Amino acid sequence: GHYLPKQQRYQNMQFRRCGNSGVQLPALSLGLWHNFGSIDSFQNAKQIARAAFDLGITHFDLANNYGPEYGSAETTFGQILKQDLKPFRDELFISSKAGYDMWPGPYGYGGSRKYLMASLDQSLQRMGLEYVDLFYHHCPDPNTPLEETMGALDTIVRSGKALYVGISNYPPKLAHKAINILRDLGTPCLIHQARYSMLDRWVEDGLLEELESQHVGCIAFSPLAQGMLTDRYLNDIPADSRAAKDKSYLGTQQVLQHQQKIRALDNIASDRGQKLSQMALAWLLRDTRVSSVLIGASSVSQLQDNMGAIDNLIFSDSELAHIERILAE
Ligand code: NDP
Repeated sequence: GHYLPKQQRYQNMQFRRCGNSGVQLPALSLGLWHNFGSIDSFQNAKQIARAAFDLGITHFDLANNYGPEYGSAETTFGQILKQDLKPFRDELFISSKAGYDMWPGPYGYGGSRKYLMASLDQSLQRMGLEYVDLFYHHCPDPNTPLEETMGALDTIVRSGKALYVGISNYPPKLAHKAINILRDLGTPCLIHQARYSMLDRWVEDGLLEELESQHVGCIAFSPLAQGMLTDRYLNDIPADSRAAKDKSYLGTQQVLQHQQKIRALDNIASDRGQKLSQMALAWLLRDTRVSSVLIGASSVSQLQDNMGAIDNLIFSDSELAHIERILAE
């Protein structure tokens, strides 16, 4: 039926300022990498998007090639906007990206001005939008001068097709250069999107410090390690889980290799009165340099569960030490 958002939608969400910008992001953001493709149920996708907005999740993260098939997550999201969310466009912060492979030939991947400009136009078309709030270069391209890629991002902002720009998966030194080029061009880098979870802590090795010192925000993707840091895989690999369905990104081996750690972490979460998923998100959010955690969800109930993380973001020293011991094993 006709969608009316919950009036209380901003009651429980926490908002965090992104770097030194004017933008505040919800502590939890929703990513559309999985579950919004043309292979997925449109009704389920729509229910998840509605539930997210009702929970105060104002930030929806997309990319040109999310699906499958490539582009279809943006098409799905465009349909959801058209049917439900378009009247609330100014309450939404929508991002997309280009960088990984998208279309055949030499102009369909990388960091060229040619690719980025064309890809954003296609993304806007699929979503039925005039602009995105945030556009990212999705991953470094060693074959394109950084000046060209950052120059394209600057042009995109000046053209009005994106309000802000960001970078993703850039290692600390390259991030430093990119941020400085953008600043010199007069288009500050809003945010860096990086993988960060209890099971993957590479950002602690210089990147978070770099972003903090440059006053650039950080959004942590795959904060649940694609579902490993939840109760999904405590006992087995359920048939409807990502590890069973989409082996290209999360392998059975990877799950089994982490299972003991996952169980030990789950015990700490229980002692805190939290689910493992909630503790994993809270553990990231306890660091105020993390502007938002960017989760995925295959159901409305997962989303609701994950919102519960906000209720307890405080860790005692002994809890933190215990977690460190488990992660070091
Ligand atoms: P998560 O680590 O949050 O994993 C999400 C998955 O975990 C869900 O799809 C679901 O999988 C499972 N899950 C989530 N909540 C629960 C719960 N409460 N209980 C049980 N299982 C749960 O994030 P993603 O890996 O999905 O990534 C999130 C977003 O980050 C993406 O959508 C994308 O926007 C962004 N991203 C960016 C990348 C980049 O290069 N910049 C790369 C990867 C992601 P299941 O299907 O098993 O139910």
